[in-house]
Amino acid sequence: MKQKKEIRIKGPHLRALRGNLREILYLEWNERGCAIIDAQSDMLDAELPRSEIIRLHAELERNLNENKILIMSSIIVCGWCHHRDKDAIYNQSNHQWFCPDCYVEHEGEILNAESYIY
Ligand SMILES: [Zn+2]
Repeated sequence: MKQKKEIRIKGPHLRALRGNLREILYLEWNERGCAIIDAQSDMLDAELPRSEIIRLHAELERNLNENKILIMSSIIVCGWCHHRDKDAIYNQSNHQWFCPDCYVEHEGEILNAESYIY
């Protein structure tokens, strides 16, 4: 089975469009992360029973981890350098996208990396 799938865009207008779409999606993702962190802060300020704080904290941590997995498994960012403005190569073994520079430089590590994305 083929290990990688590469997406290259050469046209400057399409590259700009891709960049703008990635930026919009990234800003939405970032806003969700900030909302979760704000909820954690609000929880600490609220007068809640300890058991409720523990339950909410676990739920918010789970939400943060899920949010992180969303971005790391997407084509929006490189799974290695986190740049958002480059072409992308999908690595099937760990279900992540990488920019061509990182894929070439870290291919051995990328191909042997375990997936933390379910
Ligand atoms: Zn990269």
